[in-house]
Amino acid sequence: MTINYPQDSEEELLKSLEEDAKDIHIRLQAFRDKVGKYLNHPAPKDIPLKLSLKNEDQPDAITSQILTQLQASLASKQEHKKHACFCYECNSYRCAHSQQEENDEVFTGYSATGRPIWAPFNELLSISEDPKAGDIYSQKNPLLATLNNRNFLTRNQLIGGGLHQREYRIISQVTCGYLNVERERYTLSIQVVENTKQQLFVQRLAKVQLLDALKNDQVNTTLARVEELLRQHKKAIQKVQNQWAKTVNAKSRSPLVAQINRINRKLINHIERASRQKQRRTQHAQQRANEKRPTHKALDDLMNAPQEAYYLDRYKKTIILKGPKARIHVFSLETGKHLTSFTMSKEEFQIRCDKTRYVALEKTKAQTLKEKYKSL
Ligand SMILES: [Zn+2]
Repeated sequence: MTINYPQDSEEELLKSLEEDAKDIHIRLQAFRDKVGKYLNHPAPKDIPLKLSLKNEDQPDAITSQILTQLQASLASKQEHKKHACFCYECNSYRCAHSQQEENDEVFTGYSATGRPIWAPFNELLSISEDPKAGDIYSQKNPLLATLNNRNFLTRNQLIGGGLHQREYRIISQVTCGYLNVERERYTLSIQVVENTKQQLFVQRLAKVQLLDALKNDQVNTTLARVEELLRQHKKAIQKVQNQWAKTVNAKSRSPLVAQINRINRKLINHIERASRQKQRRTQHAQQRANEKRPTHKALDDLMNAPQEAYYLDRYKKTIILKGPKARIHVFSLETGKHLTSFTMSKEEFQIRCDKTRYVALEKTKAQTLKEKYKSL
């Protein structure tokens, strides 16, 4: 297509070009802000753009060019998100790939294109050729942990899939399973990660039920012990940070990587020992558990609860009683037996209601439960 401009309107043409440029500028800015909103991150001021206008027949090709570049530019400035790993394929901490889906899944590494790959814990033990792989079937309630180094986790990742990008550089990982919460088996992936500012941080990846239970559930001995071990582990990693920040190349990092792996191996040994020491608790831990544990309040809360405080957990088929001060009491739907008590934030509770996991309990069922305990 040829456009013929009148020869004498050079000035007008220039003016019109400037108008067009202004228009494009405004539209690009709006586009940038939209992408920023999409990534839940304010857009940086300068984004270098490279556009190719070759594909005249496909105007959407321009969209994807701009979108890809904006996403990459914004993603490199994203703060890491708690309890999610970075997906290089989507340039995001918020895509479906960034968190595990099933209770027993762990992070097993990146795909060629940089997508996080999740698989059952027992599968990871086999593919990483951990000699413990067999124990998971032979033990009654196995609590095992394993170490994965960076080479293993990036074994399939290609350069185009973010292999050398620094957004979320996993140095070493510990996965462990199984931890029980309300008779359900869960797994945990603990990653030691370096960000673009050459800082180390520890990322906990797990289902929200386990994350909650680790934070709140002081009734379950193993969980309380694992939580304490994770805190010590985080502190140990933080101690490496000072030296890590001073390193200039892979060679100077190498002894620190070895140190991180040693810290991770210590965590593994202690986690596995934690399950064997289930019965032995220090006096201090027992006392702290008693203070935090709301179980003794269960009866009080039950007697004072209004009808709106009763919920049905549709997944677990249990009765949930929402008490004061974030106390939650769980009762069997069939027998009314008190199963456990813990604390849960308002937000977490609301999420379960929004997902219709917790729904209002029938009035008769709430009355029956109350009657059962009134007679005691
Ligand atoms: Zn993704």
